[in-house]
Formats: sequence, C-alpha cells, structure tokens
Amino acid sequence: MKYPFLDLKESNLPYMEELVAAAERVVRSGRYVGGEENTNLENELCSLTGSKYAVGVSNGLDALRLILRAYIEMGEMKPGDEVLVPANTYIATYLAISDAGLIPVGVDINPDTLNISSSLIEEKITNRTRALMTVHLYGRVAWDEQMKNIARSYGLKVIEDNAQGIGAVSKTEGLYGGFSTGNLGDAAAFSFYPTKNIGALGDAGAVTTNDKKLADTIRALSNYGSDKRYHNIFRGLNCRLDPIQAAMLCVKLRHTDNENESRRRKADVYMSEITNTKIKLPEIKGDGKDHVWHQIVVRIPDGLRNRFMQRLAEEGVGTDIHYPVPPHKQPCYKDLQSETYPYTEKVAEEILSLPIGPGTTIEDVKAICNIINSIAL
Ligand SMILES: *Cc1c(COP(=O)(O)O)cnc(C)c1O
Repeated sequence: MKYPFLDLKESNLPYMEELVAAAERVVRSGRYVGGEENTNLENELCSLTGSKYAVGVSNGLDALRLILRAYIEMGEMKPGDEVLVPANTYIATYLAISDAGLIPVGVDINPDTLNISSSLIEEKITNRTRALMTVHLYGRVAWDEQMKNIARSYGLKVIEDNAQGIGAVSKTEGLYGGFSTGNLGDAAAFSFYPTKNIGALGDAGAVTTNDKKLADTIRALSNYGSDKRYHNIFRGLNCRLDPIQAAMLCVKLRHTDNENESRRRKADVYMSEITNTKIKLPEIKGDGKDHVWHQIVVRIPDGLRNRFMQRLAEEGVGTDIHYPVPPHKQPCYKDLQSETYPYTEKVAEEILSLPIGPGTTIEDVKAICNIINSIAL
C-alpha cells in the first residue's frame, strides 16, 4: 500500500528516543508491577481530564468491566440490571456489560453523528435501567443537554467509553462541572491500545472518576480484590497496568493536543477536498475541539461501499470499516439478534474509514482525495 491505513511504527517514530529512554528506566528500576511510573501516568490523566482520580488498568475492556463490577460491589447495580448503550459501537462496550451480568440495551444512533441518538434514549428506560454508557465513537463527543437531563431525572450512572475520544472537549458541561471527555459522567474508561489516538506499545487502559469510593474499589478489584497486602475484600481480578506501558504513555500523553490537532488538520483537508458526489462526508456541525478524529468515517450509500473500498485498495489506499457487524448481529449475541436498529444497520453497510493516523501526512491526504475524486462507480 502506498497509503497504508495506519502505520504504527510511524506513529511512534517521533517519540523514539524518549520511549527508549523510558523503557530503559523501567528495565533498570527493578519495579515491574505498580509503582511510580503508574502514579505519574495517573496524575497526568487527572490533569488532562480534570478528574480527581485515575486508576491505570490492563486495557480498555477491563477498564469498562471494572467500573461495572465496582458498582455491583458498591450495591449500586446488581446482575440483571440494564445498561443503555449505543447500538453502533465496538464489541468491547457490549462485552463489558454482559461480562458483569448486566443487560446491554441498545439505543439506535443519530445517522448524522453516528453516535447514540439522545432523542431515542428515554423510550428504552425501564425500572431496571441503572446506567447510560455513552461512547465517543470515532473521537466525537457523545454528550449533550438532553442526555444530561435524562441521566439526572432517572438517576442513571453515566459511564463514558472514552477509548476513542481522549482529549476531546464537550460543548455541554458534564454532570460534575467538567468539559473534557473522561470527566463528563460518573466514570470513564480509556484504552491505550496501540491504534488509539494515544497508544501504548502493548495493551493498557485506565479509569477516571471524581468518586473516591469508586476509584478505591476499582483499584482493589484490579489487584485481586486486595485493599492491603494479603487482605482481600473482594473476589477480584488481576487487571493491573504494566509500568513499562505507563512509562511509554507518560511520554506520549503530554502530546495529546498536538496529536489531535494534527488529525483535525487532516480531517479539514478531507472535508474540503473530497468532491466525489458518491461520498457522504461526516456531518461537521459540532466540529472543533469536540472531535478528535480517531477515525474519519465517510459513507458510500447505494451498495457501492465495498466496490469503492476495493478500487481504493487497487490505487494503493488502505481503508477499514469501523465496524462491519454491529454487536447485536454478532454470533456471540444470538439472544439480541431479534433486535433491530435501522440506522445502525444501514450505516454498517455504508461506512468507510480513511487514513488519518500519525503516519499519514497532509500531502498524503491531498493525494488520497485526488484518488477518491477520480473514482467513478
Ligand atoms: C478499543 C476500544 C475498546 C477496548 O479497548 P481495549 O484496550 O482494546 O480493550 C472499547 N471501546 C471502544 C469504543 C474501543 O474503540
């Protein structure tokens, strides 16, 4: 591929010397679980989001699982309770809910934003609904006044799946006064999977919250349920963050705004230079700091998406689909297959993600736009 969809080696090249130095520091430290590297990362995440507490954990799925397990341990939720979730999301959002013995209740999307539709949430609420899991999919903030009012009036916990939205800033204030993703609701999960806007060099994740009891419970649950050494208050797990990944992330987290700004510049070029009438560009209203462009997702309707993707590949442009099969259509959720989410199902056939990662330059984007514009279907 002349224009690969994402080149992770390129993503880390600008930080090479600092990453190698940080790795060496950990190797020489003799401290390979927990410790100062983790504390530094947690402090930096608190500064980035404005949240009071951060707990580094093993990955993004575990961050979501631990939030829900903690609410169950705290008596705020019990197995069988329902959690509202956008029907268009990565499978991990659903997996976390069902892993905790809770029921994922899908809400269809707004086809303009591809995020959860605020106006379809209320009709899905029952007397078993305990939480709203909002997902800042593709890096676009999924939070507004309507969601906030619904969460408040029904007493729902708001959990952010912030795997894709690190550094984004909401136009609507969060439940407790913040504006940054990770500080809009009661708790937020971060993923630092290598492909995310801020990626580790392996698996890593974190939880942020302003609730001390929740943070303490998650920290204990992630460490065998132990509050003190050899004293186990919960039947916990081992979901700790590796300090070597914390050290990698401390190097990169400081550059979150620059990384996101660079994605915004590329998104701007795509938005202004794509003129092919077969392509539907993302709705740009609500653009600015409330979108960090984890993906730039265009739509190609009329059953032309797969052919378009194929033509782009022939021209050396790598693309991807996020996601071709929504969670409720996956074989592991046979029990959800009778549910229908018309917008989610329709866009799954139309969406295409274009290269926007750190290895893609503005010149590349211009060349890709020319290729896109030259394809007639
Ligand atoms: C990546 C991702 C996750 C899972 O994070 P991992 O670190 O890969 O476990 C969860 N939700 C969304 C929306 C994601 O993109």
